[in-house]
Amino acid sequence: MKNTFLLTKNLPILALSLTLPSVALAQTPATPTPTLPATAEKLTEQAPAKAVPVETPAAVTPATPAVETKADLDPTNPDNPAPDLDPTNPDNPAPVVDPTAPEEPKPFIPTGGMAALTEQAEIDLFTVGKDVGNTHDKASNPYRRLVQRTIMQTEPKPEYGFTLTFDDQLIAEEPTWGNATDIAKDLAPLGARAIFFANVPKVSAKTVDTIFAENRGTEARLKATTAILESRRIEFIRAIRTLIRIKCPADADGNQEYACEVYNHTAFHMNMRNFTVDSDQYKISIMGIEFIEACINHAYKAERPDWERARYFRFPFLASPRNRETQTALNAVFTKLGLVSVGETQDSKDYENESPTKAYDALAAAKSGRRYNPKEKGVFGRTEKPIALFHTKTWPNIKSGVVKAIQEK
Ligand SMILES: [Zn+2]
Repeated sequence: MKNTFLLTKNLPILALSLTLPSVALAQTPATPTPTLPATAEKLTEQAPAKAVPVETPAAVTPATPAVETKADLDPTNPDNPAPDLDPTNPDNPAPVVDPTAPEEPKPFIPTGGMAALTEQAEIDLFTVGKDVGNTHDKASNPYRRLVQRTIMQTEPKPEYGFTLTFDDQLIAEEPTWGNATDIAKDLAPLGARAIFFANVPKVSAKTVDTIFAENRGTEARLKATTAILESRRIEFIRAIRTLIRIKCPADADGNQEYACEVYNHTAFHMNMRNFTVDSDQYKISIMGIEFIEACINHAYKAERPDWERARYFRFPFLASPRNRETQTALNAVFTKLGLVSVGETQDSKDYENESPTKAYDALAAAKSGRRYNPKEKGVFGRTEKPIALFHTKTWPNIKSGVVKAIQEK
């Protein structure tokens, strides 16, 4: 029906296009009005005027200007109506764009938030409560939120060639450990960003062992867990706030990137590989994940009130649950929180070797679009947007290798 209508509607215009001088075409209305048949008739009547000798183009400049006709389109004639410049009229020429005209300045969107995302599929990954299902829409395939993807949608590849992520405690517990703030203060002046996957300060899987030893029954254990987490809340939020307010130096336009983001690495750094959904370990680990999200939310609201943050998660030991029921339950938790799991493409095993050379090698591989893992294959595979995994505590030892790789832009 619609097509037939359009066809019928446009036919008079087509006919006119073929028979009329171009000046008259410019006057053809984009949407034919009920008066069009009359107009067409009138114009057709005037067609013989073409036969008039060139010296007297009667159709263009009539002898008596008082008599207005559609053909009188001399733009120098002040009595003529303004030309039809409706941009939706396909017969009108495209507007002339002056390439030397100054461009409208684009608003600065700092790296790391949701503001720069345009693809709905990417926005969905971080949307609280949005079920993004399984990969390839098949129920037996892995859950999209749990797949340890090797891309961070909100981190465009920086000039130096890789995204830097640092796992575990933000605050050093031993004098030889690095602090997250040390990393930020070393990297920010270089214009480099640091992404932290954090645990809750001063707790570990050993803390959970103690909770188990000292409490019998699920209820008592969960209550003890809550008490311990709450006792760390203020310190943890303060640590996150300190990091996410640090900025890189201003660029030529005066814009400044944030130097850090903080994401979720579970509270206690338990290995989730063999968790079953009904176990107290699983329940405690979920409490910890939710606690971290609440603290990160709190910190971002305080430091960047208008910030729409992405919500990444990294499994401790990169170990996701094997059990299908546990995966289903965890996927529901991730969906509720809007979390998405992220792995790595460059792993220098810095937590074992603390080697600046291996750290450098991992990043040098990234620069040539290759992955890296010293244990398994060395340089291997391909990566478009490399994600390097390091550990906050090894920073004092690996720093020189990382800084060298950043400076070799
Ligand atoms: Zn870790």
